[in-house]
Formats: sequence, structure tokens, C-alpha cells
Amino acid sequence: MPVANTIEKFWSYVNKGPKDECWIWQGPINSTGYGYWGLQGAKWLAHRLSYILANKLESLSPDICVCHKCDTPRCVNPNHLFLGSKKENWDDMRAKGRNSNGKGDHSGMARLSSPMVIEARKLYATGNYSHQKLAEMFGVSKSSMNKAIRGDTWSHIKDGLTGYDPRKYVQTHPDVIPKGEKAPSAKLTDKQVLAIRQDYTSGKYTHVKLAAKYGVSKSLIGYILSGKIWRHLEEVS
Ligand SMILES: [Zn+2]
Repeated sequence: MPVANTIEKFWSYVNKGPKDECWIWQGPINSTGYGYWGLQGAKWLAHRLSYILANKLESLSPDICVCHKCDTPRCVNPNHLFLGSKKENWDDMRAKGRNSNGKGDHSGMARLSSPMVIEARKLYATGNYSHQKLAEMFGVSKSSMNKAIRGDTWSHIKDGLTGYDPRKYVQTHPDVIPKGEKAPSAKLTDKQVLAIRQDYTSGKYTHVKLAAKYGVSKSLIGYILSGKIWRHLEEVS
């Protein structure tokens, strides 16, 4: 990945505006209207590089496209970008009939494709991205993402599947430290954790408000919502 001073140089071509406005690339533009930037002997699409930098990606499969929510090719605001599938992959998938066996998720706008599933599982395996974060990055629902990563859906795509099911492991290995409400230091019950997540999803509560409501620290709420702890409860919800 690029070193710090080249990253700085890259951003010097961008007028960073408010989070929800387009940030227009001020550097060179290619014949199709997209900004580009030469880096380490290669020509990068500016919005693609912006997304990679903003999300601290080590790399990004060429099968994955960085798409615009705002339909502004010169925009490099990472908040306006999401990961999607290249058109070729959709055609490829249809040709192979993968889209018609009900295993993939293609309901409404929330659509994953096999390259997206492989990339998401790879990112998840780094430990740096929660299901929630990946769902946002790929523009799909959290439950679609959960299922795809676990292999409940897209089980025909083996890449990135570990075959490891924590539920079975805990049940068959009594020496495993109990998680959740059975853990010695538990401050919350399973039920409360699920309620916290539900409250948060409703959009009415901030982390601070939830901490006050359930009488726990703000950081504990953060851990629960990011899936750092009580992750096993995702299996239930
Ligand atoms: Zn934009």
C-alpha cells in the first residue's frame, strides 16, 4: 500500500467537503470521466483508491468494483462509495445458473455476488471488520452479510469458509470458557443484549443512551454493537 507522503499527495487533489456532499477530484480525468492517479507505476481510479485508503484495505480484488451511490464519476467521497460486483460477474453468474438456485441473496437491492462473498469473507477473516461494517461496505443488510460469511447462504462458494461452527464447539467442549450470561463476569443477560441490539437498530438510541438505560459502560455497549463480545448471540437473532 502507498506510503504516508503519497497518501497526503493524493488527498491534496481532493476538496474534502461535508460528509454527505460529493468530494470532486481535482486531478486528471480519464476519457470515461473518472478521476485517476498514477501511483507506483500504475494508474489508479481515484475513487477506488480513496475507498481503499478510507477503509484501510490491504488490497481489493479486481473482481470487485467501487461503485458510486451519487452517480458522480469524479466524486471520491468514501461515504458515497460502496463495493459491488462488476457487470461481467453478474453475466458470468447468470450464465452458470448460480442465480437461480435460491442459494444466493438476490432479493431487492440487497444483492451479493460470488466475488463479493469471497471478498467479504476474506475481510472478515482479518478481524478488522464486523458483520455490520461489511454489510455497510457492500451495501447489503446485516443479516445477508451474516449468513453469507457463515455459509448459511452461498454455501456453494467454498472460498473463505472455515467449516468452524462456534455453537457446536461450545456445546461439545465443556472446558471452553462460557460466553454470554454464563460467563463469570457477565453484567447482562442474553435477553438484555438482544434488547440492546434491537434498541440500537431502531435508531432511537445512541451508545450513551443505551449505556444509561442498561446501567453499563458506553464501551461495553460499543463492544456489544460491534460484535466484539456476545458475538455468539448473532446466531440466535
Ligand atoms: Zn458523491
